[in-house]
Amino acid sequence: MSSTPAANLVLGAIADDFTGATDLANNLVRAGMRTLQVIGVPDTGLALDDVDAVVVALKSRSCPVAEAVGDSLAAVEWLQGQGARQIFFKYCSTFDSTDAGNIGPVADALLERLQPTPQEEQLSSQQTVMVPAFPINGRTVYQGHLFVGDRLLNDSGMQHHPLNPMQDADLVRVLSHQTPHRVGLLARSTLAEGADAARARLSALGEAGVRHVICDTLDEGDLSVIAAAVVELPLVTGGSGLGQALPAEYRKQGWLAPVENAGRLAPASGAALVLSGSCSRATLGQVEHFLARHEGFALDPLALAESDAPIEEALAFARARLTGADAGPVLIYASAAPDAVEAAQATLGAARAGELVERALATISRTLVAEGVGRLLVAGGETSGAVVSALGVEELRIGEQIDPGVPWTQTRVAGREAPLSLALKSGNFGGVDFFTRAFAVLTEQTGQPAHPGEEGA
Ligand code: ADP
Repeated sequence: MSSTPAANLVLGAIADDFTGATDLANNLVRAGMRTLQVIGVPDTGLALDDVDAVVVALKSRSCPVAEAVGDSLAAVEWLQGQGARQIFFKYCSTFDSTDAGNIGPVADALLERLQPTPQEEQLSSQQTVMVPAFPINGRTVYQGHLFVGDRLLNDSGMQHHPLNPMQDADLVRVLSHQTPHRVGLLARSTLAEGADAARARLSALGEAGVRHVICDTLDEGDLSVIAAAVVELPLVTGGSGLGQALPAEYRKQGWLAPVENAGRLAPASGAALVLSGSCSRATLGQVEHFLARHEGFALDPLALAESDAPIEEALAFARARLTGADAGPVLIYASAAPDAVEAAQATLGAARAGELVERALATISRTLVAEGVGRLLVAGGETSGAVVSALGVEELRIGEQIDPGVPWTQTRVAGREAPLSLALKSGNFGGVDFFTRAFAVLTEQTGQPAHPGEEGA
């Protein structure tokens, strides 16, 4: 551990949820930045000698505004202490928020912290951009209106979101409800004229007192123009698409040394295990595909409600099969088709059924990692959260992606000398062969599992 600011930390990002953080980190690695994801604000400095970007994962998307602001300020303070040159506030590409926040209030608080006393004549210095677009995933912005594929945001399904229903696609108007400051637009017609024109427009808007600038974005070319125009702003905000475009600009500024393989991980070691608590359609296909080739053990929430016996049985099942360093993979899963999930929920309630499964998979992960599992794949967003806290994971080094948006990562956990290779897949990500292919990809990336004979559950 070191508290000395890393001279070469270029980007400090603050993400408003865990999978969003990973998505951004994954894009940064692909664009050539060596990236660390930390879970919450670390208590101390970290050794960041070979790190170009740190992404702090918060849970600030849907929590009360004051909490989101407080956590984001703690994160920015920590990142500044690490010497970050630019701060990136990352939110969802569908601009998930409500009239109360949290995008507007967090962006305002970060701006005020980064530039506390703007000179009267330099109003533009307290300005940031809002770039939610992620064109390869179909999220584009035109005339300030956000599209998901060929639908406006408010006609994309997002209008029914349980926590933050998005009923207006006009982001200038949406954000105006969340901040007392002026909101403006950097239009596509200006982007078409290039980065100098975009920079001039931002500064004119700044002089007119516009603090937040929604940016149109139709394609990767627009993202590159925006990145060139904003590279020197202390704060940028947006989705992970902007994270793809910024590293090239950092390189042009001479801030970023060329690295050959930004996602290089240490050799993987230990037995291989898949834990699945996701009942999403893509995961169900992946479970079926895996079970046709490897062995698995099914956990039933109704049996878990009776006793811990299924946990012991699952552990015995895994121990019998994971006996060597490169043993496995085997699968332990609660994933079930909608009718089975409904039946469990009807008896136990949805919350209790979920908790029983999450607690069981968390216990199984902790026990088996302590016994030698070193390559662990977890399916399910909530399930991943439960496993990550059970293992006491604080930071993840981001490797190469397995499928879009899902990278291998490595972390240190108590009681295990070698790094733990961990892949966290939320619901609908990944191709049908994801569970098996992931381990082949890891071997390609890091070589054969090391320490034969020493490890195994
Ligand atoms: P996803 O990313 O696919 O949404 P999550 O892990 O976020 O997956 O959410 C799935 C939820 O369903 C978790 O709370 C999990 O514990 C719960 N769950 C898993 N299997 C079952 C089951 N058989 N019956 C009821 N709930 C389940």
